[in-house]
Amino acid sequence: MDTAVVVGAGPNGLAGAVTLARAGLRVRVYERADQPGGGAATRELTLPGFHHDVCSAVHPMAFESRFFREFGLRDRIPFITPEISFAQPLDGGRAGIAYRDLSRTRDQLGVDGAAYERLLRPLVERAQDVAGFTGSPLLRIPDHLHAPIAFGIRALEQGTPVWNARFREDVAPALLTGVAAHTILAQPSIAGAGAGLALTTYAHAQGWPIPVGGSQSIITALLDDLRAHGGELVLDHDVTSLADLPDAAVTLLDVTPKAFLGLAGDRLPHGYRRALQRFRYGGGVAKVDFALDGPVPWRHPELARAGTVHVGGTREEVAAAENAVNRGRLPERPYVLVSQPSVFDSSRAPAGKQTLWTYTHVPAGSPVDRQEAVIGQIERFAPGFRDTIIATSSRSAVEVERHNPNYPGGDIAAGAPDLWQLFARPTFSAEPWRTPIPGVYLASASTAPGPGVTGLPGWFAALTALRREFGIGAAPELSPH
Ligand SMILES: Cc1cc2nc3c(=O)[nH]c(=O)nc-3n(C[C@H](O)[C@H](O)[C@H](O)COP(=O)(O)OP(=O)(O)OC[C@H]3O[C@@H](n4cnc5c(N)ncnc54)[C@H](O)[C@@H]3O)c2cc1C
Repeated sequence: MDTAVVVGAGPNGLAGAVTLARAGLRVRVYERADQPGGGAATRELTLPGFHHDVCSAVHPMAFESRFFREFGLRDRIPFITPEISFAQPLDGGRAGIAYRDLSRTRDQLGVDGAAYERLLRPLVERAQDVAGFTGSPLLRIPDHLHAPIAFGIRALEQGTPVWNARFREDVAPALLTGVAAHTILAQPSIAGAGAGLALTTYAHAQGWPIPVGGSQSIITALLDDLRAHGGELVLDHDVTSLADLPDAAVTLLDVTPKAFLGLAGDRLPHGYRRALQRFRYGGGVAKVDFALDGPVPWRHPELARAGTVHVGGTREEVAAAENAVNRGRLPERPYVLVSQPSVFDSSRAPAGKQTLWTYTHVPAGSPVDRQEAVIGQIERFAPGFRDTIIATSSRSAVEVERHNPNYPGGDIAAGAPDLWQLFARPTFSAEPWRTPIPGVYLASASTAPGPGVTGLPGWFAALTALRREFGIGAAPELSPH
């Protein structure tokens, strides 16, 4: 039986491992941490009984990713999809609310409701096409051009200084920038607007689901399938050189180009090595997790029911904070991403208590603890928040990288998701997962189609390996049935 080795048990490493195991290979996964999952791990970071997502918490791609659809993820584990996908508080007790239902969102956006709906409706009606072409290597021609064209025009509008042209008030623009800012790119930017529009499309299509029990449940589903097909996982095993790995027909690396350069030593040709050295990493994040005595006392009552809250104020305020980060400065009033999973999932905190997941953007490699800045911004829209805190766990960008080397300088996208690196991820190639070393493939979020818990880079890497090493052209069946 042919063997495969996978380095890294993140969602992409495991998506690749499952695909190879389903094709009949004997797969062994090596993971440096004492727990599988990488950016989809869940741990008791603060106090016993409080289950925090260490990295990813909300999964807009859980129902839209082609890999997860083939894998039947939603049939394997329970998800909760909040009625409010995301919300954004503004001063004066106001807020923008993005309900899953686009018409309801339109109705509460006042004079800008119709303009917001016109921006999103054509994309929401073709959400699977949007997921299809944004979740594919961009050098492939999409099957249907209607959605890509509608999407491209809108990304151009929302990613350039004309971004306010269709709006008269500040709520709808704030909502859109709150999502575009996930990318840690300068605002406005076309790549940021594109990512924001895709995520907003999913928010109004199938919503932004949260797995019951935390992101780790996704990892458990992948591992269960891997083991059911003969695969095995070795924990606490930091791979420091390719030379230390057992011989295998296929090696998948769920690592960054930076790490690959170290693992490969002098085995890479000069041109490819140079290309990987040119791969750029983006801004970082500082993460703050809270154990709370009760729910966040949001001034706007609807925010208590939102899965995700983007804290930072208006479009202009969020853009100023993000542009400061991109210029290497720490903003005084930062943009903060907040998820409140225990509002929906009682397994995440002891009775009557809550877990709160937050992070904020910082310049790459920042060693600064941002706990006070995060608390200050939440207090601005939820007075009394500080009094609900019973424990915190705070990690600077430096500590985020120390915890997981796939986030250099705290860059949770594992490589800036700017326009160029959407095409050249990590190199400009129709098969960007292939490396010049025979049988060795890159499979992490640093490869196409990029960051997020999608399983897609790992799946594409495994499919490429199966095709090139064994001539297997058909994707292995992945469904649980
Ligand atoms: C704070 C934070 C918040 C996020 N929020 C979201 C979110 O809400 N939704 C979302 O979709 N995405 C989110 N993301 C991004 C998402 O987590 C990543 O895009 C995704 O996990 C990438 O998967 P991956 O398998 O490529 O890498 P990872 O998940 O990072 O996994 C890589 C694995 O490889 C292991 N590894 C690395 N090098 C070695 C080695 N040499 N030897 C052995 N093992 C090794 C690592 O320990 C790790 O387990 C977030 C990320 C962070 C950090």
